[in-house]
Amino acid sequence: MPTTVADAAAVAEALWPAAGAEAWDAVGLVSGEPAAEVRRILLAVDAVAATVDEAVGAGADVLLTHHPLLLRGVTSVAADRYKGALLARLIRADCALLAVHTNADVVARGTSGVLAARLGVDVLAPIAPDAFGGGIGRVGDLAAPTTLGRFASTVASVLPATAGGIRVSGDYDRPVRRVAVCGGAGDAYLSSPAVLGADVYVTADLRHHPAQEAREQALLGGGPALIDVSHWASEWLWLEAAAEALRAALPDVEVTVSELNTDPWDFAVLPS
Ligand SMILES: [Zn+2]
Repeated sequence: MPTTVADAAAVAEALWPAAGAEAWDAVGLVSGEPAAEVRRILLAVDAVAATVDEAVGAGADVLLTHHPLLLRGVTSVAADRYKGALLARLIRADCALLAVHTNADVVARGTSGVLAARLGVDVLAPIAPDAFGGGIGRVGDLAAPTTLGRFASTVASVLPATAGGIRVSGDYDRPVRRVAVCGGAGDAYLSSPAVLGADVYVTADLRHHPAQEAREQALLGGGPALIDVSHWASEWLWLEAAAEALRAALPDVEVTVSELNTDPWDFAVLPS
């Protein structure tokens, strides 16, 4: 019996149960024929023109992305809108689109769990525990204390390079041992006890006001230094762990990870 799109979706459900997704999320099969055969799966963080082209060009039968292409209300999939154009391209190429989003954030080998492991963090607990023994974000300790500056260099060496690089809020020589991490946009957890109790918080998409408020509060009452990284980079690391899990469950399917950088920023300019 050949592996089908429905089989691949069932394996994804077993690895990353949809019940673990946030209430606002939209995970699972976005487009595609459940009965169609699957020989190749391509994994990417984002469904964008570049990754859809890559999937179609590689003859993939499923494009599995972390970010759902359809999340907020969509009233048109006309091909002069990019979402419609991408879906039309995928459907014509018989390539299904499958989204595994916050349901992959909460599990042990999820986005934050993998990021923490790659940064050398011995995980103690989720930042925001859920009802299933997992949860968003991870907090834990480094094997040995280091400084904020050295730890930031570790972060830079572990993550794929992006135009925005890595931004740090805090003293370069500040001692760091307890680390909180949240792959993707983690500003919602800046005042969580697990984050406030850490020496540094690594996450993405930190804006002026949330970052400044956390920094000022830390000066007054204690709190973590901040390391702001690329959203895409912080979640891209998870794809290889996801691919390994899919290969183990679907040994007849070729599973590959997209190496394309889908961070939306192309370059940064510093004053000379
Ligand atoms: Zn994300």
